[in-house]
Amino acid sequence: MIRGRILIVEDEPALLRGLKDTFTSKGHEVLTARDGEAGLNLALTSRPDLMLLDIMLPRVNGYEICRAVRAHGLEMPILMLTARGQEEDIILGLNLGADDYITKPFRTGELVARANAFLRRQKGNAAQGARFGEYELDLASHKLFRQGKEVPLTAKEFRLLAYFAARPGRALARNDILDAVWGASVMVTERSVDRCVATLRAKVEPDSRNPTYIQTLRDIGYRFEPGAESGRRSAPTTPKYPLTRIYAFEYTREVHSAQRREK
Ligand code: CA
Repeated sequence: MIRGRILIVEDEPALLRGLKDTFTSKGHEVLTARDGEAGLNLALTSRPDLMLLDIMLPRVNGYEICRAVRAHGLEMPILMLTARGQEEDIILGLNLGADDYITKPFRTGELVARANAFLRRQKGNAAQGARFGEYELDLASHKLFRQGKEVPLTAKEFRLLAYFAARPGRALARNDILDAVWGASVMVTERSVDRCVATLRAKVEPDSRNPTYIQTLRDIGYRFEPGAESGRRSAPTTPKYPLTRIYAFEYTREVHSAQRREK
């Protein structure tokens, strides 16, 4: 069983309580904050293993927290709790150092599975060679092997796969992939990423139309899931608390307050 210290920053009291109870019942140590300032202080002083971070928060918002935490050199995974249909906000959060996001309303089981996957990788980051399914990526020779047999890749495909493999389970925005793999100076567009992903999928996915390793995040980018095939994805568990309606409420409330601010 994986245990970790989880910091939850969320200003909706019922949601915060539900999340705290859920993660506590799974054996985690849970720290909570209801505004951004308290959340940032806790993040910097208590060194959590994982952070669940709402975006719209009193005092200091989730983006500023992301930026400040990374500026202090802290590298714990940050999972953003976001409202549906706000892809630009998600991309901004990822650019500022968040690792992944989950859209409200979400299933508790999915959030717990995602959090546990991050904690598991934190503990077991000794695994250096990138392996997924039957594949092994050799960073020294710049080659990909499937059951010991080389799978020919173009230089770009290799760099893209190595970039993915170094960031398992993280939501990766197209523009970040583009900057890292293609370089900012070249005249390319985010479509170049999609095209390279398509050729890569044809080489590594058992079914490239229904990919397991390189998953598409609609309007955002991609997520590489090395353990996707081996059944590591947890089955959805029945939520212990009827949280969905609270999430829906929270979502509506955030949208309304966002609309008010825009006026
Ligand atoms: Ca909020």
